[in-house]
Amino acid sequence: MSALVEIQDVKKSFGSNEVLKGVSIAVEPHEVLVVIGASGSGKSTLLKCINFLETYDEGRIVFDGKLVGYKENDQGRDIAPESETREIRKNIGMVFQNFNLFPHKSVLENVIEGPVQVKGVTKSEAIEYADELLKKVGLADKRDARPSTLSGGQQQRAAIARSLAMRPKLMLFDEPTSALDPELVGEVLATIRGLAEEGMTMIIVTHEMAFARDVADRVIFMDDGIVAEEASPEEIFTNPKAQRTQDFLARVL
Ligand code: ADP
Ligand code: MG
Repeated sequence: MSALVEIQDVKKSFGSNEVLKGVSIAVEPHEVLVVIGASGSGKSTLLKCINFLETYDEGRIVFDGKLVGYKENDQGRDIAPESETREIRKNIGMVFQNFNLFPHKSVLENVIEGPVQVKGVTKSEAIEYADELLKKVGLADKRDARPSTLSGGQQQRAAIARSLAMRPKLMLFDEPTSALDPELVGEVLATIRGLAEEGMTMIIVTHEMAFARDVADRVIFMDDGIVAEEASPEEIFTNPKAQRTQDFLARVL
């Protein structure tokens, strides 16, 4: 089986701060990879490199057979034309901590925006699929509401529907429940779990350890810019090998 995402020895610095120190990860189609680790360990930077919201200094990221962000040549590499990066991004959905919905548009308008504007899908086709997705995330009755009238959990589910509307091959989640009141976390995690059951390929950064254990096919523990441990959820949560994983889990569990 060939990986959908292949991250090979990626390094990234902000000035003199090296935040990714040689990260290698492969994600197979339909796999759910959960990334855990302390704040500042480089998790968000890694996710952003995958859709080139951040550049990376060394190494390669290959998504669906295409090198992300760069064009290689005899001298090394140059930044790829924006059109190529845009093409890659169409296939990668990203959901952040803060939902970033368009405030002046209805939920439905938020969901159809990408397909209509970026993919050139007809409006009626986009609406048909959007209604299907809103039903799936439990927001059929909110299709005409403004985001500001929704709870945080509803807004995040709308943001997930908006990403799914692009029919991505990969979904990236960066602490999707961190900004939510505790009682709203469960409904968002249930939505993500549903995607896992449908076979969506996902990389999920989360601090929700019970959810991580439940949804992950594989877990990566990042520590100070490296992958300190990679294992099955059973292994990492019951028998972590690295001392740093043990220390981290002792703090958060
Ligand atoms: P995590 O998501 O694991 O908390 P981040 O990837 O956000 O970690 O950050 C890793 C390190 O990179 C931190 O030291 C952070 O301050 C730094 N960093 C992240 N983004 C930037 C940026 N745009 N400019 C400068 N430093 C950054
Ligand atoms: Mg982060």
